[in-house]
Amino acid sequence: MGFSTSLQGQSAQEALLIRQDAEIKLLESMKRCLALKVKSDREYASTMSSLSLQVKKAERYDDLFGSLINQSWKDIMDSIDQTAKLIKQQADSMENIVVEQISNLYSERRRARKAFQEEHIWLNNQFQQLTDDVARKKTEYQKNLEVYKLARSKFEEHYINRPGKGGRKLDDVREKYQKACRKLHLTHNEYVLLIGSVTECEQELRTSYLPKLLRRQQAIHLEFIVTWKGILQDVVKYSDFTSENFLEIRSRMQAAVDSIKPADEYKDFICKHRTRQAVPLLFTFAENLDDAPGTLLPNKLAIDNLTIDWLKSRLNELEILMKPIQASRNENGFDTSKVAIMDYTIEREQIRLRCKEKKFLREAGIIRSALNELGCEEVPSGCDLSMADPFVEQTSTLIKKKFLDNGMLSLRRNKKTKSPFKSMSSINESNNEGASLKVIRKLSHMFEQVSCDTDNSSIYEKENGDLINEDWFHGVLPREEVVRLLVTDGDFLVRETTRNHECQLVLSVCWDGHKHFIVQTTQEGHFRFEGPSFTTIPELIMHQWNSGLPVTARSGAILKMPICRERWELNNDDVELMEKIGRGNFGDVYRAQLKTSQTEVAVKTCRVTLPDEQKRKFLHEGRILKQYDHPNIVKLIGICVQKQPIMIVMELVHGGSLLTYLRKNSSLLGQTELLSCCRDAAAGMTYLESKYCIHRDLAARNCLVSLESVIKISDFGMSREEEEYIVSDGMKQIPIKWTAPEALNFGKYTSLCDVWSYGVLMWEIFSKGGNPYSGLTNTQARERIDAGYRLPAPEGTPEEVYTLMLRCWDYQPENRPHFNQIHSAIEALYRSYLRSN
Ligand code: ADP
Repeated sequence: MGFSTSLQGQSAQEALLIRQDAEIKLLESMKRCLALKVKSDREYASTMSSLSLQVKKAERYDDLFGSLINQSWKDIMDSIDQTAKLIKQQADSMENIVVEQISNLYSERRRARKAFQEEHIWLNNQFQQLTDDVARKKTEYQKNLEVYKLARSKFEEHYINRPGKGGRKLDDVREKYQKACRKLHLTHNEYVLLIGSVTECEQELRTSYLPKLLRRQQAIHLEFIVTWKGILQDVVKYSDFTSENFLEIRSRMQAAVDSIKPADEYKDFICKHRTRQAVPLLFTFAENLDDAPGTLLPNKLAIDNLTIDWLKSRLNELEILMKPIQASRNENGFDTSKVAIMDYTIEREQIRLRCKEKKFLREAGIIRSALNELGCEEVPSGCDLSMADPFVEQTSTLIKKKFLDNGMLSLRRNKKTKSPFKSMSSINESNNEGASLKVIRKLSHMFEQVSCDTDNSSIYEKENGDLINEDWFHGVLPREEVVRLLVTDGDFLVRETTRNHECQLVLSVCWDGHKHFIVQTTQEGHFRFEGPSFTTIPELIMHQWNSGLPVTARSGAILKMPICRERWELNNDDVELMEKIGRGNFGDVYRAQLKTSQTEVAVKTCRVTLPDEQKRKFLHEGRILKQYDHPNIVKLIGICVQKQPIMIVMELVHGGSLLTYLRKNSSLLGQTELLSCCRDAAAGMTYLESKYCIHRDLAARNCLVSLESVIKISDFGMSREEEEYIVSDGMKQIPIKWTAPEALNFGKYTSLCDVWSYGVLMWEIFSKGGNPYSGLTNTQARERIDAGYRLPAPEGTPEEVYTLMLRCWDYQPENRPHFNQIHSAIEALYRSYLRSN
């Protein structure tokens, strides 16, 4: 198949001419484009070259002495300059070689086209001439035939009508007849000869000349295309930025970047600017401040009748000042994991609070020590007119030492707790011995008294009862919650745990991770770790805190900062259960009253008999809920972990569960009310999605309805605070009919799974509490869904609502709408219903 055989027809040749025209146009356009490319490449190259030149001039490298980044940047700019040069070279080649070639090809192509057109016209003319010759001869033939026929009929007329009659007339007619006959015969012969020769000629033109012409054309086209391809090959060559040369530059750039070793960036800088360690600011008691009688001693509080009241009220004041700081710290937590590295504001606020707290604690500690040191001694006069006994100061130091050794300096912050030194007041002071010996003896005696005054059988309960009033006692708060609270080394708290059915008190400390120390009970019923024993746990803890000694030598853990109960941690005794209103997975749910504020609340209880693991799961809901504040999310008020049963206290949502509400009020609920339920739930879920909380159990049974018919999302027992949550440990308690296929099949949960459940919730709402997939088992429902089946629209469901449900049930999670989109759609629909009603 080629031009000569396939393009003989007239139309094909005309098409060939048109094709050639198109090719000429294409060449023209290529030429234009490449010229433009050359121009812009040159401009780009020149801009890059001048840029790198400017950069080299502008940088002040002195200040960046030894900087690897700077060196790398210089190398990169050099490389960019070289790249620019290469690009310019390529642009030049493109212009000199490629654009030139295209111009030549363009001219050749035009010439070739012209030649072909001429040949084509000539050939057509030849065929036309032959046809015209034959037609002319045929006309002549017809004319002669007419003349002949006329002459013959005239001759026959004379000859037949006048037989035997000769004459001039007959001769004349005969002669004309003979003449016409001869002319016809001659024309006939000429016509015969012409037909033969013309056929021959036509055949020659058609079968020899035309194929040859077409073959030549094909050869010309082929050569032309080969050249054209070569030109395009050159275009590729001169547009190639991945050639060896460019790659070499790229690897030089890469090497420049690789040479940056972040750890070495400031090596030279440090060598050059090395200075000594930051000098601490020393705050010392200034010299030459001694009063004349020498009663005011450096670094020692003056306790006398002039200062005692001030000291006590300052102590009270400090306690009041510390409360909001600690509360705010507990409330805001110290979770810096989500804080951007450059954002110092939170850390600064934390350090400010910590410093303030430390300052207050320290100040309170000093005052308390001083007051304790004084014990039951008579308050000395600050303005003694008699000569001071120089021995007194010495005694005071000794007393302090003695107290410290016995671990008796108390820093109890709880006013309800009696000071262990209160009983000292009973000691008889009327003694004539010297002041120092007198005090030491009294205190030693007292210490012995306190140490022996123990009631072995009741001490644990008694102390536990006392402990409840200590802010750092967190009751049965689970270990994982405890660990969350202890964030800085030295943070500590005390809690209770059960081991082998035995109640134990545990001191949890943040120290190189988290350490948990069980409080040991001695045979006498005292409490200790490795050091001395104490009759009460607060005393033991205070000793540990004040002494600054490690709890155990092995752990090295030192107590620095007591971590107080969060405002969520309520006292169990502050909650009065009133009436059972529901039954949850972990225990009964009650309507209750908070004694402290006389408010009605809902309280979820956790069965005492459940294993610790379950109790932890129970509290999980509290931990999640405490961060949220939204009108469509049930509010947490607190958790009660001081003792069993542990409880979660929440706002009381009077209308109970949405499922029951829908079923009970089915006849009263119109489209607008149903849409309002969907809208509330969507608002709550939009909020949760924005907080990266995946609920995982969204259903009508887990939504509550307030008296004002506001829906509140509840039951966060299965929720997770993650963008994506993969379940790997089986799926025992999964609400199959509400759960998205990707979660069931691959354990992959995202907010888009909640969207699927939301679709089912919408269906429950519009079916007024119907059972989804009723008549199908979980497995059957799951299989049908995988096969493409979807719940039908409940009767009376508006079309837009059902379309939205179907979008929520798109098998591909990424095709489902997000909650904000759902919320906007429902809101718009709700408003249009409101308007139309
Ligand atoms: P669980 O999460 O343990 O399964 P639920 O959250 O489902 O428990 O609560 C069980 C029932 O208790 C609910 O169906 C509802 O009737 C009632 N309930 C739960 N929380 C509240 C609340 N805050 N206000 C009113 N009733 C509630």
